[in-house]
Amino acid sequence: MQPETTAKPAEKRQGMYKVVMDQFEHAADIMGLDPGVRKILAKTNSEIVVHFPVKLDDGTIEVFTGYRVQHNNALGPYKGGLRYHQTVDLDSARALAIWMTWKTALAGLPYGGGKGGVEINPKLYSKGELERITRRFTYALGDNIGPDLDIPAPDVNTNPQIMAWIADTYSSTKSPATRFANLHVVTGKPLGAGGLEGRDRATGFGVVATLKAWAKRKGKSLKGMRFIVQGFGNVGYWTAHFLTKEGAVLIAVQDASSTIHDPKGIDPEDLNRHVEANNRSIKDYPKAPTMDPAGFFGLACDIVVPAALGNQITAANAGGIKAQVVAEGANGPTDTEGEAILRANGVDIIPDILCNSGGVIGSYYEWLQNKRSEIWKIDEVLGMIQDKVMTAFDQVVNTAEEFKANWRDSAYIVALRRLEKTYMERGIFP
Ligand code: GLU
Repeated sequence: MQPETTAKPAEKRQGMYKVVMDQFEHAADIMGLDPGVRKILAKTNSEIVVHFPVKLDDGTIEVFTGYRVQHNNALGPYKGGLRYHQTVDLDSARALAIWMTWKTALAGLPYGGGKGGVEINPKLYSKGELERITRRFTYALGDNIGPDLDIPAPDVNTNPQIMAWIADTYSSTKSPATRFANLHVVTGKPLGAGGLEGRDRATGFGVVATLKAWAKRKGKSLKGMRFIVQGFGNVGYWTAHFLTKEGAVLIAVQDASSTIHDPKGIDPEDLNRHVEANNRSIKDYPKAPTMDPAGFFGLACDIVVPAALGNQITAANAGGIKAQVVAEGANGPTDTEGEAILRANGVDIIPDILCNSGGVIGSYYEWLQNKRSEIWKIDEVLGMIQDKVMTAFDQVVNTAEEFKANWRDSAYIVALRRLEKTYMERGIFP
């Protein structure tokens, strides 16, 4: 008999763990990271795998597998999303948790990095089933999450509704006296359940803030630039929304179901209405022609925004990219080989841990708002996110100059320096 294992066949793995470790080792070499700290950061602190049963609408029972990987908490509680996707496994949760540690450190947040999710295609389940899956997953995680221990948030295929169910389940299993003291066990909640105005658009807002800063440094304007977006979930839509406001033109969108292209421009608001009414997919959008998915990244445009899954820009397609810049809305969208090709071809990359950090920065303000029992307005929130993203951007640019490094390496160096300093000053127990 085969031993029970959570490992997936190699062809099903996303392979993101190798990419994040390649990036880490490379940056650690450039900066000369302390060898002890390097050993600590090369490992994850804890890896939780849970199997839990749920009764489906037809009365049958299905057992699901969920993950939470906690990479590092030197700077604060573990922080990072939960994704519901068929590619979720230990390898991907590890990689994504590690990216969160770098992202929160780079943004100067008092957080570490964690990530997890459920291996599931949520499109195959009813709303009632998703609620039961979420509540039972939260229950299975038990005290491995907590408002000052590990704080989940939305990620691929999870949303404010799912966060509300997590918060309610977590609080309901604790003493009623602590109900509101536990509200910040999760961020990205709906407004009625302790959410923050502006958290919905925070990631896309941050992506566009970094693109504006990139354009300014190049002496260019985003006005009239053509852009393409892979993934039209929260990050893809809001990025398209804010870029269009800057006068850029959305000319193509790709998701798991379809690829649409219209050089005359696609209205992101109209497309979003279609997606909301169409089980979150761009399929059958009547106002833009479809195209061969293989040609998507090679379209003539100025800005490519991968805003879906990891390892999308690889040796297979990077050479065809004609854009001036890749703005990484997704986590880990460019693999090591793809990145080398982009760099050789002079394509700029705004690295994920900087580019999409507006999301977790928004989460930080939601967490603070809950802790302080305050209610903040959207303009204040977006202003604070803008400040933090721009502070990180400037540090990345300055560190790149100091080390003659590219922006990915320099973003890592800023994050790793912060972690190294903490370990040096704090020491290691016992
Ligand atoms: N899932 C988002 C990310 O990858 C947000 C995480 C958070 O807000 O904690 O950055």
